[in-house]
Amino acid sequence: MEFIDLKAQYAQLRAPIMQRIQAVLDHGCYIMGPEIRELEGKLSAYVGASHCLAVSSGTDALLIAMMALGIRPGDEVITTPYTFIATGEMIALLGAKPVFVDIDAETLNLDPVLIERAITPRTRAIMPVSVYGQCADFDAINAIAAAHGLAVIEDGAQSFGATYRGRRSCGLSTIGCTSFFPSKPLGCYGDGGAVFTDDDALATAMREIRVHGQDRRYHHPRIGINARMDTLQAAVLLAKFEIFPDEVVARQRIGERYTQCISERCPSVVTPTVVPRNTSVYAQYTVQVEDRGEVAQHLNSRGVPTAVHYPMPLHQQPAFAFLGLGPGSFPVAERAAGRVLSLPMHPNLDTPTQDLIVETLRQAVHTRREAASA
Ligand SMILES: *Cc1c(COP(=O)(O)O)cnc(C)c1O
Repeated sequence: MEFIDLKAQYAQLRAPIMQRIQAVLDHGCYIMGPEIRELEGKLSAYVGASHCLAVSSGTDALLIAMMALGIRPGDEVITTPYTFIATGEMIALLGAKPVFVDIDAETLNLDPVLIERAITPRTRAIMPVSVYGQCADFDAINAIAAAHGLAVIEDGAQSFGATYRGRRSCGLSTIGCTSFFPSKPLGCYGDGGAVFTDDDALATAMREIRVHGQDRRYHHPRIGINARMDTLQAAVLLAKFEIFPDEVVARQRIGERYTQCISERCPSVVTPTVVPRNTSVYAQYTVQVEDRGEVAQHLNSRGVPTAVHYPMPLHQQPAFAFLGLGPGSFPVAERAAGRVLSLPMHPNLDTPTQDLIVETLRQAVHTRREAASA
């Protein structure tokens, strides 16, 4: 059993992917070839943003967004400690300070109620993460940002294809960033990402930053980086994008079925809550259990792969020790980090396999309980 079955997806898309790759090899424009523009056009229409720029990774997308906003040493960016390292890492890389705010216990996304008191005169932006594929509460976050003149950058690396009040992730704030890492809901065959915005000036800035701050050949009005997406990766994404809307539907169906089966058969397991304003793409299907180590071991030993997203909140990572945030700083994030367990999740997960996973989980939780009461 695979945790994310990319081979099944490839088997389904082999011909169009090969055709797209072959076209790139034939025209030979490996850097910023015509597939890049074609992809950007399709993705901006899908998200409902005026501009999309394809970039080298989700991490670089976050970096470019903050560079375009002029975030620099001494600035503060409010974000969640409950995320992949890249979110806080890019803030720190620019010399700015990540200011963590605890998460909501239901959605595990940034708790808007806690944001306001973290704002200081140095705050420049709020960077919510739409974790596991469900958007943060953007109406609440955007309202706070507007009241304080702050930008909002969505880290939508896990939520491409998700909706918030009928609007798509990555089109909900000043800048939306996503990742096309192979295991993300829309993945390429290497590293890739994208930034989205409705702001023309920010789009121009990000376009320049993507290519060494260049506005025309060998002319550089600003400092940038090399963050282009390879044409070959755009070709792969164009082929995969054709079935992506169907995959989003399948992900929702599979995620909801997990929740239904697990709540019926393993009532002690906490299933993810998707609030009514949202649809989730279930980048991860993540439950919460007691004694995670034992439950995971039971599943793994019976051929069910699992993962932990994420075992340690960012403020407890050695790289962020300089912030001096000890245990207990963000109790909701810390509690979740000790309990979360992700189950196999991908659009090709069939019903018998899903039933087997749920039954193995039921046994794991049951066995653990019997051991505890013995
Ligand atoms: C995957 C991920 C990233 C980084 O994306 P890459 O394409 O791997 O650089 C950033 N933030 C979050 C929340 C992620 O899940």
